[in-house]
Amino acid sequence: MQKSTVLVSACLLGVKCRYNAVCGMADGLEELMECAQLIPVCPETLGGLPTPRPPAERVGNRVVNCEGGDVTRPYVEGAQECLKLARLFGAEYALMKERSPSCGAGEIYDGTFSHTRVSGDGVASEMLKQAGIAVYGESRIRELIDLLKEGNAK
Ligand code: SF4
Repeated sequence: MQKSTVLVSACLLGVKCRYNAVCGMADGLEELMECAQLIPVCPETLGGLPTPRPPAERVGNRVVNCEGGDVTRPYVEGAQECLKLARLFGAEYALMKERSPSCGAGEIYDGTFSHTRVSGDGVASEMLKQAGIAVYGESRIRELIDLLKEGNAK
């Protein structure tokens, strides 16, 4: 039986690629691994950014860090690398870290560094969605697992 391929934010698997290098394995990942082929990606490091790095937030189509630097370019380039990998491996789904300026899906911070949330996607999630990939935030992992199990059973 062919398993579906799911792109996953690498930090959800415990890879220490977050801006502050603090990560742990998210709930449900082991079960997801049983029913799908996972492709870990970190758009920000794929875009050439180091870890640790200053936190950043989206401001419209730009991304700025808390020091006032415009880091749009590495965010866009990293998103493009993610999309390249998604296409290479035929990923139809993505499970992404919520509220990240790269991976956020449906809700992100508003660019004021005040923990204020607004509707929107991170740069990579937006690009993946535009390419037709179904993007889930990690709080929806149960929904994704159930969907994949249903598909695998057919
Ligand atoms: Fe995690 Fe995505 Fe941020 Fe990389 S860019 S640390 S995968 S949330």
